[in-house]
Amino acid sequence: MIQVGVNGYGTIGKRVADAVAAQPDMKLTGVAKTRPNYEAETAVRKGYPLYAAIPERTQQFRDAGIDLAGEVDDLVMAADVVVDATPSGIGADNAALYERYDTPAIFQGGEDADVADVSFNARANYEDATAADVDTARVVSCNTTGLSRLLTPLDEAYGVEKARVTLVRRGGDPGQTSRGPINDILPDPVTVPSHHGPDVNTVLPSLDVDTLGVKVPATLMHLHSVNVTLSSAPGRDEVRDLLDDESRLFLVPEEAGIDGTGKLKEFAMDAGRPRGDLWENCVWEDSISTQGADLYLFQSVHQEADVIPENVDAVRALLDREDREQSTATTDETLGVGLESLFAGQRKRVVPKGANGDD
Ligand code: NAD
Repeated sequence: MIQVGVNGYGTIGKRVADAVAAQPDMKLTGVAKTRPNYEAETAVRKGYPLYAAIPERTQQFRDAGIDLAGEVDDLVMAADVVVDATPSGIGADNAALYERYDTPAIFQGGEDADVADVSFNARANYEDATAADVDTARVVSCNTTGLSRLLTPLDEAYGVEKARVTLVRRGGDPGQTSRGPINDILPDPVTVPSHHGPDVNTVLPSLDVDTLGVKVPATLMHLHSVNVTLSSAPGRDEVRDLLDDESRLFLVPEEAGIDGTGKLKEFAMDAGRPRGDLWENCVWEDSISTQGADLYLFQSVHQEADVIPENVDAVRALLDREDREQSTATTDETLGVGLESLFAGQRKRVVPKGANGDD
């Protein structure tokens, strides 16, 4: 069993912890938190060993009636690998801690690429993280994950001459009460192209991609408006079938009656997905169109969730336990990734194993 510690138990960390706990080959060593808030309370209720991320605050946990398993150093020492899910910039500060105990570490997309030996997306460059001299990986951001999953199969099948993507980004996550805008539409960043394209190049170095960013008053998901000039001119149905074959791309069919991200999230909650999470890119099936070598489509990505299967795969890649096909299959099977089955008459399980007493 791979012992996995999670340092930082917020939006991403709590989802990674649950996903790790569901894997047949992993054991959640514990999670580190800075303070005894509602998330610490739920970690305790789930039976996750809790560690103090800031040792000076140990007493605060005691005062709140929470028993600690130790301090963050104990967690890093006990784990085979640590997933750092602390806020942007803190991961880089924590890098020395993981080095001190010679513990491989996985960072998140809010960190600069140089925080880790490699940037990682399971579909784009899984093998890079399996190299013997690689001890640290950075799972790229939610937007970059969404773009990498889409552009990799297109590049493999047809060649990508140039991708141009406008990212309509949510202002904040549902729990981020301090974020905005509340009533505005912001070019963000106003400089063009945005940093997202270069971030895609950390996992797909030779891909020509330009991105523009816009921020809107929404919390549910991002929406990408995509134009890809391909090296050949496949028909629309051929591209549709190619994307449909990808387990982490969900083609949203018109007959589902889902007209936007609100209903997508509603569907995920109705289907019993934990926290209403959508681990797949949601590609609007009817938007897939080709004009000669130009492909157009819209896709939505759930910023809180799409990087979660990637973190699980990064654990296996970094420790060189399985190859890409095996790892992604195990992750998808365990979590229930693959919503398209609901509309293809297969009705596979789309929630984590055991969630419906079905394991
Ligand atoms: P978050 O603020 O929801 O969670 C971070 C957690 O880390 C909080 O519970 C915070 O209290 C805790 N923390 C703060 N300092 C710490 C320390 N020194 N040690 C341990 N824990 C500490 O943030 P998040 O949204 O989960 O983001 C985490 C990382 O994931 C960032 O790099 C972010 O860019 C990236 N990411 C976020 C999203 C998203 O949409 N939320 C998507 C993809 C990637």
